[in-house]
Amino acid sequence: MRNVYMDYSATTPVKEEVLKEMIPYFTENFGNPSSLYTPGLTAKEGLDLARERVSGLIGAESSEVYFTGCGSEADNWAIMGIADKFKDKGNHIITSSIEHPAILRTCEYLEKHGFQVTYLMPEKDGRILPETLEKAITDKTILVSVMLVNNEVGTIEPIKELAKVAKARGILFHTDAVQALGNVPIEVKELGVDLMSMSAHKIYGPKGVGALYIRKGLRFPNHIFGGGQEMGRRAGTENMAGIVGFGKAAELAKAGLSEHIAHSEKLRNRLIEKVTAEIPDTYVNGTMEYRHPGNANITFKYIEGESILLLLDACGISVSTGSACSSKSLKPSHVLTALGVPVEMIHGTVRFTVGDFTTEEDIDYVVDNLKKIVARLRELSPVSAEKGW
Ligand SMILES: *Cc1c(COP(=O)(O)O)cnc(C)c1O
Repeated sequence: MRNVYMDYSATTPVKEEVLKEMIPYFTENFGNPSSLYTPGLTAKEGLDLARERVSGLIGAESSEVYFTGCGSEADNWAIMGIADKFKDKGNHIITSSIEHPAILRTCEYLEKHGFQVTYLMPEKDGRILPETLEKAITDKTILVSVMLVNNEVGTIEPIKELAKVAKARGILFHTDAVQALGNVPIEVKELGVDLMSMSAHKIYGPKGVGALYIRKGLRFPNHIFGGGQEMGRRAGTENMAGIVGFGKAAELAKAGLSEHIAHSEKLRNRLIEKVTAEIPDTYVNGTMEYRHPGNANITFKYIEGESILLLLDACGISVSTGSACSSKSLKPSHVLTALGVPVEMIHGTVRFTVGDFTTEEDIDYVVDNLKKIVARLRELSPVSAEKGW
């Protein structure tokens, strides 16, 4: 059976070149980068190069990039760090209602500990408008956190404009760029953000390594106490192979960015065109204008996305409903809910995300199987266009 992976927003395979650079850090280059003898210095060189490569992908200085254990950790650190450092200045945080759970759960925790959080609502297209942010700011606001690219519907948020609004009021700005990294060009100085979260496994690097960009000069608390690793801000002997892999993945992402975007968009558009033309009662959620190049979030009316997912899986095709992080819960997607998609439509939604290893044949295989699966499920469905909703 053919295997077609179409869930690149959940994770990506580690590229061959990335793995090749990682392996020596398990074997001959096993030294601790904090050690002063030669194997330690060799490891330190690998660490420095990785930091340069990751900072190079976002236009930062390498001293502004701090490695973490994952994107979620970077998100937690950013929010908790600002809350802790500036709690005397104010107790109000602004975020959006379509953030990743790593942001939302952290904000909910803070709400239980004396903070007030405003969750901005997006427009129907998924975009958070600068005027919506402007209205939510109070004298007590210390932080705004809005994601650069949404993981479910792929909307690219106007972060530069949002950060400008925050900056004009002297408020710090964090963005979760985990889905954006390697999928849209990022110049962190252009964006004007103070903090930015990243993760390796969404850009063909290994799982279990992320990074937080912390703008030079920002007062910001340390995260793990211990040794002097990560410029004293996050202690613990480094995940060397993981960090080196992140660095290589970042280098490849930078060199191949326009090619990656063109390839993903072409295949994603082919999928959307075929599905909407060949399968009746299908709707694409989110805007096509500002969108992750590989994201297709599609509603199939009258049937359950979960059923589609399972039947596609039986054909060797991997997709998701909502996001990987919430797909095990039966709660309707908080993102589609915020976009105003009716609940029965949300239940019929599937997210397809393509990437560098997706081919035209993959798209055609998925569409062929989808046609059969959707027809079969609709026949069994108690509601349909003919039967009446
Ligand atoms: C995947 C993802 C994360 C979490 O990153 P991990 O490295 O898996 O912890 C955070 N935010 C967004 C938008 C994501 O897509």
